[in-house]
Amino acid sequence: MIQIHDLWKKFGRHEALRGLSFTVPKGSTYALIGANGAGKTTTIKVLMNILEPTRGRATVLGVDSRRISPRELNRIGYVSENQDMPERLTVGQYLDYLRPFYRRWDRDLEAGIRRKLRLPPERRIGDLSHGMRMKMALACALPFRPELLILDEPFSGLDPLVREEFMEELLQQAGEMTVLISSHELGEIDGVATHVAFLDDGKLMFEESMSDLTGRFREVHITTEREARPPGRLPAHWLDVKTMGNVLMFIETRFSDDAFGEHVSTLVSGVRRIDTQPMALRSIFTTLARAAREGARL
Ligand code: ATP
Repeated sequence: MIQIHDLWKKFGRHEALRGLSFTVPKGSTYALIGANGAGKTTTIKVLMNILEPTRGRATVLGVDSRRISPRELNRIGYVSENQDMPERLTVGQYLDYLRPFYRRWDRDLEAGIRRKLRLPPERRIGDLSHGMRMKMALACALPFRPELLILDEPFSGLDPLVREEFMEELLQQAGEMTVLISSHELGEIDGVATHVAFLDDGKLMFEESMSDLTGRFREVHITTEREARPPGRLPAHWLDVKTMGNVLMFIETRFSDDAFGEHVSTLVSGVRRIDTQPMALRSIFTTLARAAREGARL
Protein backbone atom coordinates (compact mmCIF):
# COMPACT_ATOMS: atom_id res chain seq x y z
CA MET A 1 0.00 0.00 0.00
CA ILE A 2 2.94 2.29 0.70
CA GLN A 3 6.50 1.94 -0.53
CA ILE A 4 9.20 4.36 0.51
CA HIS A 5 12.59 4.16 -1.11
CA ASP A 6 15.68 6.16 -0.06
CA LEU A 7 13.58 9.17 0.90
CA TRP A 8 15.35 12.42 1.81
CA LYS A 9 13.80 15.70 2.90
CA LYS A 10 15.82 18.82 3.59
CA PHE A 11 14.51 22.03 5.11
CA GLY A 12 17.27 24.51 4.23
CA ARG A 13 20.37 22.79 5.58
CA HIS A 14 18.48 20.59 8.01
CA GLU A 15 17.99 16.98 6.92
CA ALA A 16 14.65 15.90 8.38
CA LEU A 17 14.62 12.56 6.50
CA ARG A 18 17.85 10.77 5.69
CA GLY A 19 17.48 7.88 3.28
CA LEU A 20 14.28 6.36 4.64
CA SER A 21 13.04 3.08 3.13
CA PHE A 22 10.15 0.92 4.27
CA THR A 23 7.07 -0.87 2.97
CA VAL A 24 3.59 -0.95 4.48
CA PRO A 25 1.92 -4.26 3.57
CA LYS A 26 -1.75 -4.43 2.63
CA GLY A 27 -4.01 -5.13 5.61
CA SER A 28 -1.40 -4.17 8.20
CA THR A 29 -1.68 -1.60 10.96
CA TYR A 30 1.75 -0.11 10.68
CA ALA A 31 3.11 2.08 13.47
CA LEU A 32 5.72 4.72 12.78
CA ILE A 33 7.36 5.36 16.12
CA GLY A 34 9.88 8.01 17.08
CA ALA A 35 10.67 10.76 19.55
CA ASN A 36 9.89 14.45 18.90
CA GLY A 37 11.56 15.64 15.72
CA ALA A 38 12.33 12.12 14.42
CA GLY A 39 10.61 12.88 11.10
CA LYS A 40 7.22 11.18 11.43
CA THR A 41 5.09 14.14 10.34
CA THR A 42 7.48 14.97 7.50
CA THR A 43 7.20 11.38 6.21
CA ILE A 44 3.40 11.52 6.34
CA LYS A 45 3.29 14.92 4.64
CA VAL A 46 5.39 13.53 1.79
CA LEU A 47 3.00 10.57 1.48
CA MET A 48 0.02 12.94 1.30
CA ASN A 49 1.78 15.16 -1.28
CA ILE A 50 1.76 18.09 1.14
CA LEU A 51 5.57 18.16 0.89
CA GLU A 52 7.83 17.18 -2.01
CA PRO A 53 10.74 14.89 -1.23
CA THR A 54 14.23 16.32 -1.84
CA ARG A 55 15.42 12.94 -3.11
CA GLY A 56 14.11 9.38 -3.37
CA ARG A 57 10.50 8.38 -3.81
CA ALA A 58 7.36 7.23 -2.09
CA THR A 59 4.45 5.46 -3.72
CA VAL A 60 1.00 5.34 -2.19
CA LEU A 61 -1.58 2.91 -3.62
CA GLY A 62 0.89 2.41 -6.48
CA VAL A 63 1.05 6.12 -7.37
CA ASP A 64 4.10 8.38 -6.93
CA SER A 65 3.37 10.66 -3.96
CA ARG A 66 4.07 13.72 -6.17
CA ARG A 67 1.12 12.72 -8.34
CA ILE A 68 -1.44 12.02 -5.63
CA SER A 69 -4.69 13.52 -6.93
CA PRO A 70 -8.34 13.62 -5.80
CA ARG A 71 -8.71 10.15 -7.39
CA GLU A 72 -6.37 8.66 -4.79
CA LEU A 73 -7.66 10.93 -2.03
CA ASN A 74 -11.02 9.22 -2.48
CA ARG A 75 -9.32 6.08 -1.18
CA ILE A 76 -7.13 7.59 1.57
CA GLY A 77 -8.33 8.80 4.97
CA TYR A 78 -6.06 11.32 6.70
CA VAL A 79 -6.23 12.40 10.32
CA SER A 80 -3.70 14.75 11.83
CA GLU A 81 -3.39 16.89 14.91
CA ASN A 82 -3.00 20.09 12.93
CA GLN A 83 -5.58 19.34 10.32
CA ASP A 84 -7.16 22.33 8.64
CA MET A 85 -10.92 22.36 9.09
CA PRO A 86 -13.32 25.24 8.44
CA GLU A 87 -13.65 26.73 11.91
CA ARG A 88 -16.92 28.57 11.18
CA LEU A 89 -18.87 25.54 9.96
CA THR A 90 -20.70 23.28 12.36
CA VAL A 91 -19.97 19.55 12.60
CA GLY A 92 -23.09 18.76 10.57
CA GLN A 93 -22.42 21.43 7.94
CA TYR A 94 -18.88 20.22 7.36
CA LEU A 95 -19.97 16.60 6.94
CA ASP A 96 -22.68 17.79 4.48
CA TYR A 97 -19.95 19.64 2.60
CA LEU A 98 -17.57 16.66 2.44
CA ARG A 99 -20.05 13.95 1.40
CA PRO A 100 -20.36 14.78 -2.34
CA PHE A 101 -16.59 14.64 -2.81
CA TYR A 102 -16.54 10.88 -2.14
CA ARG A 103 -17.81 8.12 -4.36
CA ARG A 104 -18.45 5.68 -1.52
CA TRP A 105 -19.66 7.80 1.40
CA ASP A 106 -21.73 5.61 3.75
CA ARG A 107 -24.33 7.80 5.51
CA ASP A 108 -25.32 5.13 8.02
CA LEU A 109 -21.71 4.64 8.99
CA GLU A 110 -21.30 8.42 9.32
CA ALA A 111 -24.37 8.68 11.58
CA GLY A 112 -23.16 5.74 13.71
CA ILE A 113 -19.69 7.24 14.16
CA ARG A 114 -21.08 10.68 14.98
CA ARG A 115 -23.36 9.16 17.60
CA LYS A 116 -20.73 6.93 19.18
CA LEU A 117 -18.14 9.69 19.30
CA ARG A 118 -20.79 12.05 20.67
CA LEU A 119 -20.12 14.85 18.17
CA PRO A 120 -22.91 17.43 18.42
CA PRO A 121 -23.96 18.31 14.82
CA GLU A 122 -24.80 21.93 15.70
CA ARG A 123 -21.43 22.70 17.38
CA ARG A 124 -19.04 24.98 15.46
CA ILE A 125 -15.73 23.28 14.60
CA GLY A 126 -13.86 26.27 16.00
CA ASP A 127 -15.51 25.63 19.38
CA LEU A 128 -14.56 21.94 19.62
CA SER A 129 -12.09 20.85 22.31
CA HIS A 130 -8.83 19.23 21.18
CA GLY A 131 -10.16 15.70 21.79
CA MET A 132 -13.44 16.41 20.00
CA ARG A 133 -11.51 17.89 17.10
CA MET A 134 -9.50 14.68 16.72
CA LYS A 135 -12.73 12.68 16.86
CA MET A 136 -14.21 15.00 14.23
CA ALA A 137 -11.19 14.39 11.97
CA LEU A 138 -11.76 10.64 12.37
CA ALA A 139 -15.48 11.04 11.67
CA CYS A 140 -14.57 12.76 8.38
CA ALA A 141 -12.03 10.08 7.40
CA LEU A 142 -13.95 6.84 8.02
CA PRO A 143 -17.40 7.09 6.33
CA PHE A 144 -16.01 6.76 2.80
CA ARG A 145 -14.41 3.44 3.82
CA PRO A 146 -10.86 4.31 2.77
CA GLU A 147 -8.51 1.53 1.71
CA LEU A 148 -5.72 3.36 3.47
CA LEU A 149 -6.01 5.39 6.67
CA ILE A 150 -3.12 7.64 7.68
CA LEU A 151 -3.13 8.94 11.25
CA ASP A 152 -0.52 11.44 12.39
CA GLU A 153 -0.17 11.29 16.18
CA PRO A 154 -3.85 10.84 16.77
CA PHE A 155 -3.49 10.24 20.51
CA SER A 156 -1.33 13.12 21.62
CA GLY A 157 -3.14 15.25 24.15
CA LEU A 158 -6.18 12.95 24.38
CA ASP A 159 -7.43 11.96 27.80
CA PRO A 160 -7.69 8.20 28.41
CA LEU A 161 -11.47 8.06 27.90
CA VAL A 162 -11.44 9.94 24.59
CA ARG A 163 -8.46 7.88 23.48
CA GLU A 164 -10.42 4.71 24.22
CA GLU A 165 -13.45 5.97 22.24
CA PHE A 166 -11.24 6.96 19.34
CA MET A 167 -9.46 3.61 19.39
CA GLU A 168 -12.70 1.63 19.57
CA GLU A 169 -14.03 3.35 16.49
CA LEU A 170 -10.77 2.78 14.69
CA LEU A 171 -10.67 -0.90 15.56
CA GLN A 172 -14.22 -1.38 14.24
CA GLN A 173 -12.91 -0.74 10.76
CA ALA A 174 -9.23 -1.62 11.07
CA GLY A 175 -9.74 -5.07 9.51
CA GLU A 176 -11.03 -3.59 6.24
CA MET A 177 -8.19 -1.17 5.65
CA THR A 178 -4.47 -0.64 5.87
CA VAL A 179 -3.53 1.81 8.60
CA LEU A 180 -0.38 3.90 9.02
CA ILE A 181 -0.26 5.48 12.45
CA SER A 182 2.49 7.68 13.85
CA SER A 183 3.13 7.92 17.55
CA HIS A 184 5.71 9.03 20.13
CA GLU A 185 5.44 5.81 22.00
CA LEU A 186 5.08 2.13 21.39
CA GLY A 187 2.84 1.78 24.43
CA GLU A 188 0.20 3.96 22.77
CA ILE A 189 -0.40 1.56 19.91
CA ASP A 190 -0.42 -1.57 22.08
CA GLY A 191 -2.98 -4.07 20.81
CA VAL A 192 -3.48 -2.18 17.53
CA ALA A 193 -0.28 -2.31 15.48
CA THR A 194 0.80 -5.40 13.57
CA HIS A 195 4.07 -3.85 12.38
CA VAL A 196 6.38 -1.19 13.70
CA ALA A 197 9.06 1.04 12.22
CA PHE A 198 11.33 2.97 14.54
CA LEU A 199 12.58 6.36 13.36
CA ASP A 200 15.40 8.33 14.94
CA ASP A 201 16.72 11.65 13.63
CA GLY A 202 15.33 11.06 10.13
CA LYS A 203 16.70 7.52 9.86
CA LEU A 204 15.00 4.16 10.11
CA MET A 205 16.51 2.15 12.96
CA PHE A 206 14.49 -0.99 12.19
CA GLU A 207 11.13 -2.26 11.02
CA GLU A 208 9.56 -5.54 12.01
CA SER A 209 6.36 -7.27 12.97
CA MET A 210 5.08 -6.54 16.47
CA SER A 211 5.23 -10.21 17.45
CA ASP A 212 8.90 -10.46 16.44
CA LEU A 213 9.68 -7.30 18.37
CA THR A 214 8.03 -8.38 21.61
CA GLY A 215 9.47 -11.88 21.16
CA ARG A 216 13.09 -10.77 21.05
CA PHE A 217 13.15 -8.42 24.07
CA ARG A 218 13.64 -9.87 27.55
CA GLU A 219 14.63 -8.48 30.90
CA VAL A 220 17.24 -10.94 32.18
CA HIS A 221 18.47 -11.63 35.73
CA ILE A 222 21.31 -14.10 36.10
CA THR A 223 22.16 -15.29 39.60
CA THR A 224 25.76 -16.45 39.92
CA GLU A 225 27.58 -18.38 42.65
CA ARG A 226 29.91 -15.49 43.49
CA GLU A 227 29.74 -11.75 42.99
CA ALA A 228 28.40 -11.17 39.47
CA ARG A 229 30.70 -9.72 36.83
CA PRO A 230 29.73 -8.75 33.29
CA PRO A 231 31.59 -10.69 30.59
CA GLY A 232 34.82 -9.07 29.34
CA ARG A 233 33.40 -8.64 25.84
CA LEU A 234 29.76 -7.69 26.07
CA PRO A 235 27.51 -8.92 23.25
CA ALA A 236 26.19 -5.87 21.32
CA HIS A 237 22.63 -7.20 21.76
CA TRP A 238 22.82 -6.92 25.58
CA LEU A 239 21.76 -3.47 26.74
CA ASP A 240 21.72 -1.72 30.13
CA VAL A 241 24.06 -4.25 31.72
CA LYS A 242 24.25 -3.86 35.53
CA THR A 243 25.28 -5.94 38.53
CA MET A 244 23.94 -6.07 42.06
CA GLY A 245 25.60 -8.53 44.46
CA ASN A 246 25.55 -11.89 42.75
CA VAL A 247 22.95 -10.87 40.16
CA LEU A 248 23.79 -9.75 36.63
CA MET A 249 20.97 -7.81 34.95
CA PHE A 250 20.56 -6.74 31.36
CA ILE A 251 18.11 -6.44 28.47
CA GLU A 252 18.49 -9.08 25.79
CA THR A 253 17.43 -7.72 22.40
CA ARG A 254 17.96 -10.96 20.44
CA PHE A 255 16.24 -13.44 22.74
CA SER A 256 15.54 -16.94 21.51
CA ASP A 257 14.17 -19.60 23.86
CA ASP A 258 16.24 -22.47 22.53
CA ALA A 259 19.77 -21.23 22.72
CA PHE A 260 19.63 -18.64 25.49
CA GLY A 261 20.79 -20.70 28.51
CA GLU A 262 23.67 -22.16 26.55
CA HIS A 263 24.67 -18.75 25.20
CA VAL A 264 24.72 -17.24 28.71
CA SER A 265 26.82 -20.12 30.12
CA THR A 266 29.55 -19.53 27.55
CA LEU A 267 29.82 -15.88 28.66
CA VAL A 268 29.13 -15.88 32.41
CA SER A 269 30.82 -18.23 34.85
CA GLY A 270 29.14 -19.92 37.84
CA VAL A 271 25.54 -19.46 36.64
CA ARG A 272 23.04 -20.72 39.24
CA ARG A 273 19.80 -19.44 37.81
CA ILE A 274 18.47 -17.54 34.81
CA ASP A 275 15.24 -15.55 34.96
CA THR A 276 13.79 -13.96 31.82
CA GLN A 277 10.75 -11.66 31.76
CA PRO A 278 8.89 -10.37 28.69
CA MET A 279 8.87 -6.58 28.61
CA ALA A 280 6.05 -4.06 28.36
CA LEU A 281 6.02 -2.15 25.08
CA ARG A 282 6.63 1.11 26.92
CA SER A 283 9.89 -0.27 28.40
CA ILE A 284 10.94 -1.68 25.02
CA PHE A 285 10.44 1.77 23.54
CA THR A 286 12.48 3.53 26.23
CA THR A 287 15.29 1.00 25.78
CA LEU A 288 15.25 1.44 22.00
CA ALA A 289 15.17 5.21 22.14
CA ARG A 290 18.12 5.32 24.56
CA ALA A 291 20.10 2.75 22.55
CA ALA A 292 19.49 4.70 19.32
CA ARG A 293 20.83 7.87 20.96
CA GLU A 294 23.95 5.98 22.05
CA GLY A 295 24.44 4.64 18.51
CA ALA A 296 23.86 0.98 19.45
CA ARG A 297 22.78 -1.50 16.79
CA LEU A 298 19.29 -2.74 17.43
P1 ATP B 1 6.89 15.42 16.66
O1 ATP B 1 6.69 14.11 17.33
O2 ATP B 1 7.49 16.44 17.58
O3 ATP B 1 5.72 15.91 15.89
P2 ATP B 1 8.10 14.40 14.20
O4 ATP B 1 8.77 13.10 14.35
O5 ATP B 1 6.76 14.42 13.58
O6 ATP B 1 8.10 15.16 15.59
P3 ATP B 1 8.82 16.27 12.13
O7 ATP B 1 7.72 17.23 12.42
O8 ATP B 1 8.73 15.44 10.92
O9 ATP B 1 9.11 15.33 13.39
O10 ATP B 1 10.18 17.11 12.08
C1 ATP B 1 11.43 16.53 11.76
C2 ATP B 1 12.50 17.62 11.79
O11 ATP B 1 12.30 18.51 10.69
C3 ATP B 1 12.49 18.46 13.05
O12 ATP B 1 13.82 18.75 13.41
C4 ATP B 1 11.76 19.72 12.61
O13 ATP B 1 12.19 20.84 13.33
C5 ATP B 1 12.15 19.84 11.16
N1 ATP B 1 11.10 20.48 10.36
C6 ATP B 1 9.87 20.01 10.12
N2 ATP B 1 9.15 20.84 9.32
C7 ATP B 1 9.98 21.88 9.05
C8 ATP B 1 9.86 23.07 8.27
N3 ATP B 1 8.75 23.36 7.60
N4 ATP B 1 10.93 23.90 8.22
C9 ATP B 1 12.06 23.62 8.88
N5 ATP B 1 12.26 22.51 9.63
C10 ATP B 1 11.24 21.65 9.71
